[in-house]
Amino acid sequence: MSNFRFKALEIAQSRQALAVAAPTERVGDFFGSNTFNSEVMRTLLSPEAYLKVTEAISTNGQIDRTIADEVAGAMKSWATSKGATHYTHWFQPLTGETAEKHDAFFDITMEGKAVEKFKGSALVQQEPDASSFPNGGLRNTFEARGYTGWDPSSPAFLMDNGAGGKTLCIPSVFISYTGEALDYKTPLLKALNALDKAATAVCQYFDRNITKVTPTLGPEQEYFVVDRALFYARPDLVLAGRTVFGHSPARGQQLEDHYFGSIPPRINAFMVDFEFESMKLGMPVRTRHNEVAPGQFEVAPTFEEVNLAVDHNALLMDLMEKVSEKHNLKVLFHEKPFAGVNGSGKHNNWSMGTNTGVNLLAPSTKPKESLRFLTFLVNVVKAVHDNADLLRATIASAGNEHRLGANEAPPAIVSVFLGESLTQALNDLETKSEVTVNKGDNVYYKLGLNRIPSLMRDNTDRNRTSPFAFTGNKFEFRAVGSAANSASTMTVLNAIVADQLNAFKSDLDARLAKGEKKELAIVDILKEYYANTKRILFEGNGYSDEWVEEAARRGLSNIKSSPEALGVFVQPESLALFERTGVMNHAEVESRYEIELEKYIKNVQIESRVMGDLAMNHVVSTALKYQNKLAETARNLVDLGMNAEAGPIKDILREISTRVIAIKRSVESMVDARKKANNVTDTTERAKLYSTEVKDHFDIIRYEVDKLEEVVDDEDWPLVKYRELLFVK
Ligand code: ADP
Ligand code: MG
Repeated sequence: MSNFRFKALEIAQSRQALAVAAPTERVGDFFGSNTFNSEVMRTLLSPEAYLKVTEAISTNGQIDRTIADEVAGAMKSWATSKGATHYTHWFQPLTGETAEKHDAFFDITMEGKAVEKFKGSALVQQEPDASSFPNGGLRNTFEARGYTGWDPSSPAFLMDNGAGGKTLCIPSVFISYTGEALDYKTPLLKALNALDKAATAVCQYFDRNITKVTPTLGPEQEYFVVDRALFYARPDLVLAGRTVFGHSPARGQQLEDHYFGSIPPRINAFMVDFEFESMKLGMPVRTRHNEVAPGQFEVAPTFEEVNLAVDHNALLMDLMEKVSEKHNLKVLFHEKPFAGVNGSGKHNNWSMGTNTGVNLLAPSTKPKESLRFLTFLVNVVKAVHDNADLLRATIASAGNEHRLGANEAPPAIVSVFLGESLTQALNDLETKSEVTVNKGDNVYYKLGLNRIPSLMRDNTDRNRTSPFAFTGNKFEFRAVGSAANSASTMTVLNAIVADQLNAFKSDLDARLAKGEKKELAIVDILKEYYANTKRILFEGNGYSDEWVEEAARRGLSNIKSSPEALGVFVQPESLALFERTGVMNHAEVESRYEIELEKYIKNVQIESRVMGDLAMNHVVSTALKYQNKLAETARNLVDLGMNAEAGPIKDILREISTRVIAIKRSVESMVDARKKANNVTDTTERAKLYSTEVKDHFDIIRYEVDKLEEVVDDEDWPLVKYRELLFVK
């Protein structure tokens, strides 16, 4: 058969699950075996160097050159003993991918002899030829210098390149010649630092032993898997990461039988394989299951310190792509690869832990701890309330735009779910009815929070439609896109909470200065915060139309378009907040805004081009051929005197013509819209045109093409159909 689609289907259907050797050792024996972790350091470094490095890690301090030389030497001998030939600084430029530039461990001496070499200076700093990484105007291309610098808080690891040997990867920041951040990690580290300071200061009111607060993140990663042959038979999946056409299959996710169903053997083999590799890289992947849509799955790690979790998530995605190839599968991280079924997110589970082992968002039965819990809870709610649009900006992308507000996904409205008992407790606090605080030496307060302990169990799973949900002992930000780097969201979340905690501290200090009793003052402030921010709390179905109306009545924003959402980054209040918290200066924020807009434009442009190409060169041409066949049949019938029988065929001929004309017109007008947009130099304006005038054509073209799919003979249809992409495995 000449049809590419059927060839691909034949290949896909004949594939069997790969035999994967499951680990024979116990997890403890191989977990982290490919990382230069603290155990390895303890054995390979002098006690002095080991101490310096661990100290630098916990205090974000500097590591001096002699220590760096020793660490580099140890890293090199460890890596080469495990088969590494190259090393690289591994960083996260604003393209959204991870970047690496491999250098060999050997050098040539003056005498022409090859010797192994890796100095402390090479460990600490590298200068990649970075002129083609996006910088949003921060670095002129003729001044291409950008530096990568070692981040000791994220362990170096060995990346297996298959036949290409192994490379030692050193997690790094990426900054410009003039010191501005060109990556995701640098501002994230600053935000985490700001949160640590602010939260520790607030903890001091409750417990003097708390000297460090570490934000934690557990990112659940959703993804689709399709057969490799089918993937390559869909140019839109290859180029745009999503299908721009495809009629809904007779069976989609309406049976809801996929969720937590049994995992297909080929996918299971893939999971076992990448999980084993992840464990060796020190990534604690723990949960695997099917997701709601057919062909959709999830992987979740145990939570870690945010910076590490972000690195690990980026590494995990990279690893999953590599391992999927081995299984003749393709993993899709796009937020909405298929219309009409569930999209994919990256649920960011977030909390804060103290050096004393306390989770600051875990409710407690003890009144004093309850007040601390409430302090952090209410401050987080207020931070989200006051900065909802900024949070929304961090999840804006061309891909996520297809998902937010669509099937089975949180809307673009940021709301917070707390659960019934907790909301009740806060209402009690506000109305004061159950709060009893006695002055005097014997401070006794009831707070009306006797319900808190029992809320734990019933709360966790209640509401899956809230974009920002309290799930018992952490918040879960579900609106983050599956393809996103969590750093952007984590930078803003930690920065706004840090900023809010600083504001809380000044409010409290002002009252204490007036001689108010601490506990009373805290309760008063929390009551006021709660009253002013509770409109963001929503317990109902976040996916319903009623909520959209209700949210509008409450004055909550619902920013649907990405360019508009991104615009919030550069509003004066946002710039001031980033400056105040020391996370980014104005130039850095503005360059990021510019880069995100460019990314958005490019992605919509690619989608639009793929759409035009597929519509004209695949769909319309096929439809015309089919129409010709039908015309011949009709003519034959007329020749035989069967005019009445030729009637319905003529109807089909007319339908095809009408749709073909509609497609052709729309594609032409979309191309015109693109040309018009491309001539606009202002990026904001151009992005706006892409999000409206170019993108407005997508639905129209898609509608007509999907209708043609229903009409044209299945034998002739060139594009792999949804039922085949989603159900063949
Ligand atoms: P669900 O699908 O029900 O939301 P999962 O078990 O798939 O739950 O994922 C929950 C995620 O939340 C895991 O990654 C888990 O490690 C993470 N998590 C649990 N406690 C915390 C915490 N204190 N801070 C950050 N993340 C956490
Ligand atoms: Mg989960």
